[in-house]
Amino acid sequence: MTASPAQDMAGLEMAARPRINVMKPWLGAEEAEAVAAVIASGWVAQGPKVAQFEAEFAAAQNAGFAVATSNCTTALHLALVVAGIKAGDDVVVPSFSFIATANAPTYVGARPVFADVELQTGNVTAGTIAAALTPRTRAVIVVDQGGMPVDLAPIRELCDPLGIAVIEDAACGAGSTYRSLPVGAGAEITAWSFHPRKILTTGEGGMLTTSRGDWAQRAAKLREHAMSASAASRHSAVLAPPEEYTEIGYNFRMTDMQAAVGIVQLGRLAEAVAQRRRIVARYAAALDGTPGLRLSHDPVYGTSNFQSFWLEVLPEFGTTREGLLEHLAARGISARRGIMASHRQPAYTGWDTGVADLSVTDRLTDNTLILPVFHQLTGSEQERVIGAVMTAGKN
Ligand SMILES: *Cc1c(COP(=O)(O)O)cnc(C)c1O
Repeated sequence: MTASPAQDMAGLEMAARPRINVMKPWLGAEEAEAVAAVIASGWVAQGPKVAQFEAEFAAAQNAGFAVATSNCTTALHLALVVAGIKAGDDVVVPSFSFIATANAPTYVGARPVFADVELQTGNVTAGTIAAALTPRTRAVIVVDQGGMPVDLAPIRELCDPLGIAVIEDAACGAGSTYRSLPVGAGAEITAWSFHPRKILTTGEGGMLTTSRGDWAQRAAKLREHAMSASAASRHSAVLAPPEEYTEIGYNFRMTDMQAAVGIVQLGRLAEAVAQRRRIVARYAAALDGTPGLRLSHDPVYGTSNFQSFWLEVLPEFGTTREGLLEHLAARGISARRGIMASHRQPAYTGWDTGVADLSVTDRLTDNTLILPVFHQLTGSEQERVIGAVMTAGKN
């Protein structure tokens, strides 16, 4: 690539401008005050704030029951345990996802079997799952990728008669809707993430929601060493009853400090999603129709929270995905490659992960890019991003 001196100068001038991140958590004084109050109370581990966060989160997501966990990966692990998945079972998962989706089945000795995704949403469908089913498939993990709701009803129609549990990985999905309800409400069991890369954050943290009381009860027990009486109930009693360990459990607890942040964040969720959708609408107005760019959009059956707003760089665009990333980086704009493909990671080379065609996954992983979207992104910063995308295509 050759650039004229004038272009070089323009590039340098723009690089001197403040950096624009791809994502920033939206946290404020209220979260700090909530944590300070927990510290002042003297009860910092899992206790009353976790219980309150669980109740408020379950109500917000139309879920029967909610069990807070240390992160979404541990919530997925627990989901598989309570669904009865074990060594020798196959679990169909999208390769096109953060690697935790594929790793979770391995924690219970099961095998992840990769399914492809559809081009429009980046999500698995009943068709891509059907193509990956094996005689040993006992569960599928569907993902609301980047907040884009998965089309769950046809997947349940496929899996329910076969006795295959449908677990929803809604790590990125808080605030997205499916058929006018919060995502996750239609699955028997759903896992959520509160990592800062997601919209609702507790630093680290996760949640398992389920429509089944028996699963919720077992998950709540397993997350704290499978103790017969919770630590909270024992510590609040003056004379604690003796406890019993009914099976081998885990320590997957959330702290009350995190839950206090989560309660404040949950109160901000609707506003956070509305602001992200306004930002994405401005990107769409400016960039839709640009030759060689394909933008992600809401599907007909739901709305995305746009935890990640991605676009695909097609051959007609003036440069490749890598070229566009470099062009943006030279102007202080931190975009990101799209979602990874787990089947291409060294962790899974050498594993037998099924025979399904993964060509859409490969195409999306190689050609998509995530643009900056965060609550505090200003109009002029967004103009800088849009301008930089447009000039990249004209090289
Ligand atoms: C972030 C993410 C996870 C992992 O969440 P943690 O809370 O970091 O464990 C799992 N699945 C998907 C799809 C994710 O995006």
